[in-house]
Amino acid sequence: MQDLIANVMDSRLLDLLGLWRSAGSGTVAAEPTRSFAAHLDNLLIIDIEGPGNRYSHYGAAFTRHFGSDLTGCVIDVLPADILPVERRGMLEFEYTFARRVKQPLWRSYTALFEGGTETWQRLVLPVGDDRLMVGAYPVKAAIAEDEAAALLRLVIERVPVVLDAAGGIADLALSLRAFCDTQQHVAELEVLATRDSLTGVANPRHFRHLAGLELDHARRMGRSFSLLALDIDHFKTINDRWGHAAGDEALKAFVGACRVALREYDILGRVGGEEFAVALPNTGLDGARIIAERLRRQVEEMVVRPAKGEIFELTVSIGVTSCGGVDAAATEAIVTLDVPTLLARADAALYRAKSAGRNRVVVAEG
Ligand code: GH3
Ligand code: MG
Ligand code: MG
Repeated sequence: MQDLIANVMDSRLLDLLGLWRSAGSGTVAAEPTRSFAAHLDNLLIIDIEGPGNRYSHYGAAFTRHFGSDLTGCVIDVLPADILPVERRGMLEFEYTFARRVKQPLWRSYTALFEGGTETWQRLVLPVGDDRLMVGAYPVKAAIAEDEAAALLRLVIERVPVVLDAAGGIADLALSLRAFCDTQQHVAELEVLATRDSLTGVANPRHFRHLAGLELDHARRMGRSFSLLALDIDHFKTINDRWGHAAGDEALKAFVGACRVALREYDILGRVGGEEFAVALPNTGLDGARIIAERLRRQVEEMVVRPAKGEIFELTVSIGVTSCGGVDAAATEAIVTLDVPTLLARADAALYRAKSAGRNRVVVAEG
């Protein structure tokens, strides 16, 4: 078993594991950067502070690879473009598990990076009660290996392996069956908890959460951020004239039109019956106005074809608000802003769009 691990684990991680073991797991906490100097570029040090996990060291290899230095950042609040949702659950699981069993966890993962798919191996090392170290290295495509090694590789692609004191396999952090069931269950729960069941877009709570992450990101990076408030015009009349079922179909068609007009990373949420909101990351007022106008036109040109009854059309009124960016005054303002405040501003502009005759885009004052 020992040979098998040595055969499949990346040699640099084997070295790190050896250093960690010879230093004594509890005692390296004080000066990890000295004990592990050779691995610093590929090392993450994570301090557990209350409910959060914070990077106190973020190796240069990760900064080069992922584009930002996350030293000091709390992992749980990283925006989705830095840490995709599907990777969060496994990280959280690994960190909690390694702390609980106080043994090293080793895992390989293959993910899509900018240059194509890549495989990395990670070793999570518990250090004292409130610190974890993670070493991670990209590994070459599978070398020629025997069946046992191939099987081991297959396993570690799916679950973290718990290593015993001698570096052999002590356990799997999850049975494969439990892992697959959990992943599926988590995915289903996530959809229920975050999506609107009729249209599939973010529900109000999830929209505020995602928009909040983007607003924080804009604040930290000095970027602009815009919000749109949308309300379908005379929707009550549509229900009255064509029936509630046709109204539901109109809401789905409306979302389809929004998706055409928006960019992939814009966030669309349903915040009320026929009320929607859009968060536009990295977008200033001029850009937001263009997107809002494109969206308004897309909805105007769309026709709803209900399963029963005649086809009909819709229009939408939109309020726009922006903050942040290079303008110093705006940058200052973003410090105190939050999503509910921005939504209220966009709503006030939307209200003016309604009074001015509907089917139009109005920018918030101030
Ligand atoms: P305005 O142009 O001023 O926005 O007029 P409106 O008729 O759109 O505004 P109002 O807020 O008075 O009406 C919204 C209507 O949307 C009332 C409600 O019955 C309908 N509605 C809300 N949620 C749903 C839904 O899930 N399905 C359907 N079919 N209708 C819905
Ligand atoms: Mg309304
Ligand atoms: Mg309406």
